[in-house]
Amino acid sequence: MRILLVEDEKYIARALAEVLKKNHYAVDMVFSGSDGLAYASTGIYDLVILDIMLPDLDGLSVLRRLRAEGIATPIILLTARSATDEKIQGLDAGADDYLPKPFHSDELLARIRALSRRAAGIVTRGSLEFGDLSLMPQALTLTHHGRQEQLSVKAAQLLELLMANAGTIVAKETVLRKLWGYDTDAGGNHVEAHVSLLRKTLAHLGSTVSIRTVRGMGYTLLDAVEKDATARRATRPGNEGRPGNGGRLGNEGRSGKEGRPGNEGRPGNEGRPGNEGRPGNEGRPA
Ligand code: CA
Repeated sequence: MRILLVEDEKYIARALAEVLKKNHYAVDMVFSGSDGLAYASTGIYDLVILDIMLPDLDGLSVLRRLRAEGIATPIILLTARSATDEKIQGLDAGADDYLPKPFHSDELLARIRALSRRAAGIVTRGSLEFGDLSLMPQALTLTHHGRQEQLSVKAAQLLELLMANAGTIVAKETVLRKLWGYDTDAGGNHVEAHVSLLRKTLAHLGSTVSIRTVRGMGYTLLDAVEKDATARRATRPGNEGRPGNGGRLGNEGRSGKEGRPGNEGRPGNEGRPGNEGRPGNEGRPA
């Protein structure tokens, strides 16, 4: 998860960034409203922590402009303790939460967790599931059939990104920006190296989940079990004409993101009730 921190008081910004990094968030820090607006407008952030009192462009203006641009990234405003007006204006302008200064970093962390759970539709556990894998991104732990593997920060971030977007292709550029941010010399080869490492970890665990490279586009998660089940269902006699599938938008026709292999012949969503129409949720049962 990548967080943008917009705070002109550099001492506070650096201290906060340190706390966030220690808790395994990827953090970019900018010290002005205009930079905050420019960075947040890229849409690569999962969360923005935005101070209201900024020298050039104040936080409320940044917030309003972002929302006007259609950037829906969750935003926590840092407000002055007494400024009730600011809080109301902030919430009205589309902030998701606010935190009066000064605050304890634990409180900020709790609010970040609450907001990211809400944003991801994860109800309680703060974990992501796909196939036989369960990932706790902040703890960097990957669980496979009861066995826990401790991941590196980058590996956890990469897997989190792929799991949160299961069913779609995650562009290589997106991986690069999410894991390394904009202020980096890292390039595509860094992404490839980390994908390769994560593949080794998955293979080492004996997981049915693998990372598929979609040439020229990016990466997507595959679950071999799901694929086998698909093949079995496809060959099962009497399946072809099965009613109930007709009205559903086939995966074939859902243009764009769906490069998910193994979906083509899949008759419906039978195994996963309640998922219809919510693409991208497959890997994250509530
Ligand atoms: Ca400030």
